[in-house]
Amino acid sequence: MNKTEFIEAVSKLGLKVTSEHIRLLEKYYELLVEWNKKMNLTAITDHDEVYLKHFYDSLTLIRVIDLNHEQSLCDIGTGAGFPGIVLKIFYPHLVLTLVDALNKRIKFLEVVVRELGLEKVTLIHDRAEEYARKNREKFDVVTARAVASLNILLEYSLPLVKVNKHFIAMKGNENTKNSLNALALLSGKIVLEDEFMLPRENAKRNLIKVIKVKETATRYPRKFSEIKKRPL
Ligand code: SAM
Repeated sequence: MNKTEFIEAVSKLGLKVTSEHIRLLEKYYELLVEWNKKMNLTAITDHDEVYLKHFYDSLTLIRVIDLNHEQSLCDIGTGAGFPGIVLKIFYPHLVLTLVDALNKRIKFLEVVVRELGLEKVTLIHDRAEEYARKNREKFDVVTARAVASLNILLEYSLPLVKVNKHFIAMKGNENTKNSLNALALLSGKIVLEDEFMLPRENAKRNLIKVIKVKETATRYPRKFSEIKKRPL
């Protein structure tokens, strides 16, 4: 997906791409490729592929939520900043928190935030489930792309979400039936599943939008060893 195709596809999501957005995305792309030579950030480095599989794909979150009406967003297992940094470029009002268990990725993100001049961004080097225990019911939107299976992801994420607000899992293929127990125990309810194909690719996407119906019981999230041994 070249820049012209990106601008067209993003406009179909209801967003206007400005020259400032492109300037920031280009800078982000340069940093990604440069730092990827020193550390493993992404397997995708071709310019047009990054525009499709990282930049455009990150923005598809807005198919299921209008971020103009949300204040705070937390991206767990953000890696090189997807979808969090891309969303922040297009919605600069968001108070953004990026969480990753790998400190080298957080170090890269520190440079991205500084070089792109992004404000109101907090970078957290921690496991999501540890961070969630100390930051319950704090965010309007929590999201994650390519981090864990849905039942596990729900335990990491739902404690972070304010009551009546949302967790959105950005998935490929996912059978939500395996997560019904986790949803019940963590006080979440699926309100929307949006299945679509990534343009130009034969790649299926599924956005799973979950509302938090009441406070999550304080015994969740459990320690990682417990989550792994006995997933909900
Ligand atoms: N979200 C990014 C994307 O879509 O490109 C990165 C995906 S990468 C496959 C998964 C990332 O999740 C890694 O950076 C890893 O360190 C992080 N991760 C996995 N489990 C985690 C956890 N429990 N807490 C925080 N980060 C986690």
